[in-house]
Amino acid sequence: MCRRVFVTGATSGIGKEIAISFAQYGDNLLLCARREEKLAELKAELEADYDVRVDTFTLDVRNREEVETKVPQAIKAFGGVDILVNNAGLAQGLDDFQDSSIDDAVTMIDTNVKGLIYVARKVLPFMMEQNSGHIINMGSTAGIYAYAKGAVYCATKAAVKTLSDGIRIDTIATDIKVTTIQPGIVETPFSEVRFHGDAQRAASVYAGIDAIQPEDVADIVLYVSNQPKRVQISDVTIMANQQA
Ligand code: NDP
Repeated sequence: MCRRVFVTGATSGIGKEIAISFAQYGDNLLLCARREEKLAELKAELEADYDVRVDTFTLDVRNREEVETKVPQAIKAFGGVDILVNNAGLAQGLDDFQDSSIDDAVTMIDTNVKGLIYVARKVLPFMMEQNSGHIINMGSTAGIYAYAKGAVYCATKAAVKTLSDGIRIDTIATDIKVTTIQPGIVETPFSEVRFHGDAQRAASVYAGIDAIQPEDVADIVLYVSNQPKRVQISDVTIMANQQA
């Protein structure tokens, strides 16, 4: 059966691969992120390669008003939602906490935590109404094992896991499922974003590690979404074989 899948942060890395893998599976897609031209490129690519519907809209998940207006509108125009992949997120900076930028901290909290809450709160009423749905939140191994110089990013990803668990408990009387995906180091533009475009520093993150690829994470997301109604996978941790 063709599902209605809403992916945030679909213009790059893990989110883009998740969109591709759901399209390959035959699901219709509602995609958002901030970069309009990247959304248009992906829509054209997916519609050319697969027999699926792809709706897109620009969204900055940090902007509560924008989320509250655009998300319900987009879902209604799309015809509803079965799966939400709350993937939009980022890290900024890599410094000892005492030296780290408060602006970077605010950006990470606004995107990874508040943005996820804004989106989930606007999607859940549609799922409650139909008594079914699946929220898949992108956490990280950083939320399980804090690492040096990453205190705030790690805290945001620990928050993602706790939010998922809380939403699951609060929707326990429904057929809604909630899953946290917790990848380790994945080779994407994430590190370049983190280091404000410093490609050399970003490449050093993956040195000596056969890092997992975004399609490895997308495979897991598809697997988790394909379980029978009675099965809920609460969380999955996936990391490179060499990651400590
Ligand atoms: P990328 O930088 O490749 O992709 C991030 C995506 O998030 C982009 O599509 C970007 O789109 C979107 N995004 C960022 N900020 C916003 C915003 N304010 N509003 C809407 N969309 C936004 O990184 P990854 O694919 O690696 O990261 C995806 C998720 O996976 C993140 O939540 C990240 O924390 C998590 N993760 C990544 C790991 C890694 O090692 N790469 C490991 C574990 C978890 P645009 O710029 O167009 O808005």
